[in-house]
Amino acid sequence: MTPEAVQAGLLGGESLLQRRSIAKAITLLESTRVDHRAQGDALLTALLPHTGKSFRLGISGVPGVGKSTFIEALGLYLIGQGHRVAVLTIDPSSSVSGGSILGDKTRMEHLSMHEKAFIRPSPSSGTLGGVAEKTREAMLVCEAAGYDIVIVETVGVGQSETAVQGMTDMFVLMQLPNAGDDLQAIKKGVMELADLVVINKADIDADAATRAQAQITSSLRLLGMHGNPNDPHSDKHWQPNVMSLSALLGKGVDTFWAAVTEFQTLQTANGLFSQRRQNQSLAWMWERIDAGLKQAFKQNPAVREQLPQLTAAVQAGQLAASTAARNLLSVLELTAQAA
Ligand code: GDP
Repeated sequence: MTPEAVQAGLLGGESLLQRRSIAKAITLLESTRVDHRAQGDALLTALLPHTGKSFRLGISGVPGVGKSTFIEALGLYLIGQGHRVAVLTIDPSSSVSGGSILGDKTRMEHLSMHEKAFIRPSPSSGTLGGVAEKTREAMLVCEAAGYDIVIVETVGVGQSETAVQGMTDMFVLMQLPNAGDDLQAIKKGVMELADLVVINKADIDADAATRAQAQITSSLRLLGMHGNPNDPHSDKHWQPNVMSLSALLGKGVDTFWAAVTEFQTLQTANGLFSQRRQNQSLAWMWERIDAGLKQAFKQNPAVREQLPQLTAAVQAGQLAASTAARNLLSVLELTAQAA
């Protein structure tokens, strides 16, 4: 398929051809070949006017908390309401080991077979920044193809939550109804990212879920996230909410979606919805500039020539790390001036 055919297929409306075109487009964007990158950029530019109209929902939680069970229930519920749902995944383990926490089992069995759903596993290699970039691009592709709800899922470890929060309109943290977990999440600072906390598996022990709900609510208060006028989550706007549900029984999915809709309406009314997206786009641009500069730096011939010697000097304690860095950066400056 030529890039033009991919684009036409993508924008052409729901069909098997569209599904194939989405997959082709994402594969093109994930490719590391230079000519593919140029084609991918051209495709993104062409698709951009058709993007941005979806609601982007981030969902995180430790393995086993019930993310896939919940996304399956939520996805089917949303399709029932007339939506089209795309599910993308950022799997931090794949960027480290090439393995996968999220991809090893059959997940979302019914949703994945539904014609109104599109599910794509995490890109399987590269740094977290690279994986996040591919996911952002895949999100744009899905939006251009008319998916009006994009769910980005990640595992509750490492920096991947920050990445997902940085690319979605709302970030949901899933928790188990036991005390240890939420304290851990607070320690990691993840709780501060959450617009909504969901305690899953309330069917197992309703009392424990209620206790966890109260505990997390008060933890959020302690973090100053309720009623702090300097916080973007303050009174007038949105206060992070804590709710419990059962993904397995599908209980509470409608209440969950009502809260999401309320959040969306509020954020749109007070201008924070578009502000968040603008900030995210600029942060994305700078993140990519940083990554590109670093790569260009490492590939610069003069830097490459001096790097081993300076590295050895820093290791041997003969040169301060900051001096070595300045020397190398000045090499790059001189090269830029000479060019
Ligand atoms: P993930 O690793 O976060 O995607 O978790 P899964 O969705 O694979 O769920 C892990 C296990 O928990 C599975 O055996 C699910 O059937 C079970 N599970 C998920 N949600 C619930 C729930 O609400 N109640 C109960 N009792 N079990 C659940």
